[in-house]
Amino acid sequence: MSNKVHLGHTARKRFGQNFLTDSNVINRIVGAIAPDNDHVMVEIGPGLAALTEPVAESIDKLTVVELDKDLVERLKTHPFLKDKLDIHQGDALKFDFNQLVEEGKQMKVFGNLPYNISTPLMFHLFEFAEHIENMHFMLQKEVVLRLSASPGTKAYGRLTVMAQYFCQVMPVLEVPPGCFTPPPKVDSAVVRLVPYKQKPWPCKDVDLLRHLCTTAFNMRRKTLRNNLKQMLTDDDFKLLNIDSTKRPEQISVEQYVAMANLVFDKKSS
Ligand code: SAM
Repeated sequence: MSNKVHLGHTARKRFGQNFLTDSNVINRIVGAIAPDNDHVMVEIGPGLAALTEPVAESIDKLTVVELDKDLVERLKTHPFLKDKLDIHQGDALKFDFNQLVEEGKQMKVFGNLPYNISTPLMFHLFEFAEHIENMHFMLQKEVVLRLSASPGTKAYGRLTVMAQYFCQVMPVLEVPPGCFTPPPKVDSAVVRLVPYKQKPWPCKDVDLLRHLCTTAFNMRRKTLRNNLKQMLTDDDFKLLNIDSTKRPEQISVEQYVAMANLVFDKKSS
């Protein structure tokens, strides 16, 4: 049998379908998620229910968002899951997570994400960060390294700054290709993202921060001064006490927020 067929379903490449099959890895991920009834539990891309089943076992209700209509049909008729699942067929990138908010409850969001949408999906979820207790995602290992990178390293970039602006980032475990059917071409890893209840460095305009980061990291080998010359002057850098001869990866999240806030103030004055 082709290694693309699992439990009678042919994996669809366009939906990034690599199904988890390693029970040890599944158990460790479910342990990290720590499902409970005190949170609104949300899974993105349940697929053939590798995580859905063990998570649903210990709770009363699990909300899932799945794009593939065939997989949604399977979930609707699943012997024990069908009574526990609140199933939303559609694109998680367009899903309004506010509709899941319940009085007095925060969400725990998790998923073995299709790698092609993982970055935009995280950015989409950051918009709902105030309602989210934590998120556990299986991602390309390289993306987890970028999310959790420290300043001064090669992996540190725009994604690092934006993720660490919203969340505490903790790598949980590494997962080799053999733990999936079909196996992906890259190594994977699970990451835990915990949105800050109180942001350590509040930003006045997040879109501006995102724009500033994109501009700053556009040319990684150039200096900050060079990359940001349209937005900040030498005097601005002096005021912020930031050495503008540094490269973009040498600048902390706090410093990026300070720069974005100064640009905001200049625009508003
Ligand atoms: N959770 C399952 C597992 O661990 O075996 C499946 C993981 S598979 C990597 C990704 C899942 O996300 C698939 O079920 C796929 O159909 C679904 N998916 C792909 N794109 C999606 C989207 N935009 N919104 C929601 N689900 C999506």
